[in-house]
Formats: sequence, C-alpha cells, structure tokens
Amino acid sequence: MNKDVLIRLNGISKSFDGETVLDDLHLEIHDKEFITLLGPSGCGKTTTLRIIGGFETPDAGDVYFDGKRINDLPPYRRQVNTVFQKYALFPHLNVFDNIAFGLRVRKTKDSEIREKVKAMLELVNLRGFERRRVGTLSGGQQQRVAIARALVNEPKVLLLDEPLAALDLKLRKDMQNELKNIQQRTGITFIFVTHDQEEALSISDRIVLMKSGVLQQNDLPQRLYNEPANQFGAGFLGNPPINNIPGTIQDCRFVTADGKADAALDMCRGVENGRKVNLSVRSESFVLDADGPIACEVTRVYQMGKEEMAYLRMGECDFRAYIDSEEGLKPGDQVHLALKKRGVFLFDRETGERIR
Ligand code: ATP
Repeated sequence: MNKDVLIRLNGISKSFDGETVLDDLHLEIHDKEFITLLGPSGCGKTTTLRIIGGFETPDAGDVYFDGKRINDLPPYRRQVNTVFQKYALFPHLNVFDNIAFGLRVRKTKDSEIREKVKAMLELVNLRGFERRRVGTLSGGQQQRVAIARALVNEPKVLLLDEPLAALDLKLRKDMQNELKNIQQRTGITFIFVTHDQEEALSISDRIVLMKSGVLQQNDLPQRLYNEPANQFGAGFLGNPPINNIPGTIQDCRFVTADGKADAALDMCRGVENGRKVNLSVRSESFVLDADGPIACEVTRVYQMGKEEMAYLRMGECDFRAYIDSEEGLKPGDQVHLALKKRGVFLFDRETGERIR
C-alpha cells in the first residue's frame, strides 16, 4: 500500500431495506489531500462519509485507517471529525463555548483551551466574536464556528457533508476559498461531499464521481472535465450541459440517428459499422470553418459576451455552440463547423462506455 494512503475503503457495500446504496466501493484517500465525493442526490456520498466516520457499518468490505482495520472502532475513537450541513451548534452557548466544547469533554486545562480556541478563531476569521451567542450570527459565521469546533480537536481527517449548501451563492464562493485556505494551512485531510459540480471543480485536489452507489471516476478535477470516463461523467460536469448527438457509425462516418445528416470525423475511424453512439461535444468545442465536416442550420442565436450562443440543427438533432463569428449569425444560416480536439467524445449509446 502507498505509504501516504491514510484511509482505504476496500470493497465496501451497503444496502438499506434491500436497496443497494454502495456497491463494492474501492477508494484510497491520501494524507493532507482535499478530496470531494461528487454525484447526484442519493448516489451514496453521505453513506460513504458515515462509514468513514463510523456512524454506519458496511455490509461487506473493510475500512483501513493508517493501515489498521477500523471497522469495529466507534466514531469517538476515530481520528475524524464531521461538519454537517446543518451546523448543529449549541444555541444556548456562545462562540467560545461552542468551540471549546470538545476540549472540555476531554478535560483539557483552561489555559490550553483559551489558547486553542483563540488560534481557531484566528484561523476561521472570527477574532472578537468569542462572546457572541451563535443565534445572532449569520449563516456563514455559524458555519465557521462549526468548522472551528471540529478542527480544535486536531483530527487527522475532517468530513464535510454539504457544509455550504445553506449559504447564498456569494457567501458560498467566499467560504469555498476559505475552506481551501484552512485545509492548506492546517494540512488536515478534508473529505468533502457535494452534488454541485462547480463547487467540486473549484475546491478539490481530487474528485470521486459516483452514481447509484458505484464509483464512476476518481481523478484530478481537470481530467474529470477533459477526459470523462463515460457518458455519465461527461454529462454531469459542464455548464451548459454537453451536447449529445445520437447517431450510428457507417463506413467510418457519423450518421445522425434519424439518418438525415452525416459527417466524416477522424474519431469515427476504426469504430465498427452499425455501432450506436453519441457524439458528445461541449458547447465551447465547435469552430466555424467553411471546410468543416459538420453541416448544420442556425435556428436561434443570442449574444453572450463577445461570443454568440447559437442553436444549431444537424439532421433533426439540435445542439448548442459558442460561436465567434465576424459577421454574426442569424436563424436560417447554413454553416459548417469543425470540432476542436478538447471536449469532443464518442460514447457507446447503450452502455455509456467511452469509445474515443
Ligand atoms: P444527497 O446528496 O441527497 O445527500 P447522497 O449521495 O449523500 O445524497 P446518501 O445519503 O448516501 O446519498 O443516500 C443514498 C441512498 O440511501 C438514498 O436513497 C437514501 O434514501 C438511502 N439511505 C441513506 N441512509 C438510509 C437509512 N438510514 N435508511 C434507509 N435508507 C437510507
């Protein structure tokens, strides 16, 4: 085992009421990394987190921490702390006492408590808030208190379950930066759960993409976006969503599923005849090119900054593209497009497997 692997999940499966929620999950989490579990609602992210925290027991598989199997270790004996979406602060205590709570339980000396709480308040930018009742704080400030309260116990790992979900967009962005800073300054391993792809892309060292309890891809953020392992991954990341143009391969050409248009694309070479595919292209991956292989009609256009977002039709398939055109496009124009190298994929339409 790689020596900086801190947590290893080995073949974890879990069902609730006969429904499989996690299916043979294998995952290694490295010391000091910021790793994000990403996926749609119900895909098993929180359950994974709860198994790492010891709040849930797997039906099969083992959890290792620092090389030791910890399946039977209760939560309070794991070197892990959790920050929840609902901050779960003690409303009757002030900020200082909320943060000091865990230290008092462990009978830490008063002078040490004062020092540690002070350091935490600095870390989360809440100096001077010691005596404030938590009920008088904003959502963002309450979340900082929750983070300080978890970090003061000096865990090796912090589990964060959608901790920013209740914040408005601006505050959420600020807190993303702040969380990243805190993680880098403390060197604590962060395991973060979100269903928000932009949040995951902006904050993580590594992203674990999940669907229906099955790991889809475990990769660097930029690779997840640029090299999706399958159709699901290509569709889950990206805004606007990726275009999926259904078709079939005929003599190394892409033919739209309605049979009304085709294009000679290099990426179709070597793909077997008759294979049902999706040509999946990000909106930023088209270029206007009079010699381009994709002939289509403009159906609608609107300006987005210096570029135009064009709605296009190839055969009976509609898709969207950012187009940088000199003269401007208008509905009814017939145009040719070429494809960039990045952001263009071919997936098997039945299995979702990536072909190119
Ligand atoms: P979300 O983003 O909505 O929080 P998630 O990916 O974190 O979703 P989980 O909370 O892990 O998903 O839940 C996965 C599935 O397991 C869901 O269908 C959920 O209803 C179910 N589930 C989770 N905990 C329990 C439980 N204690 N009893 C029964 N079903 C459960």
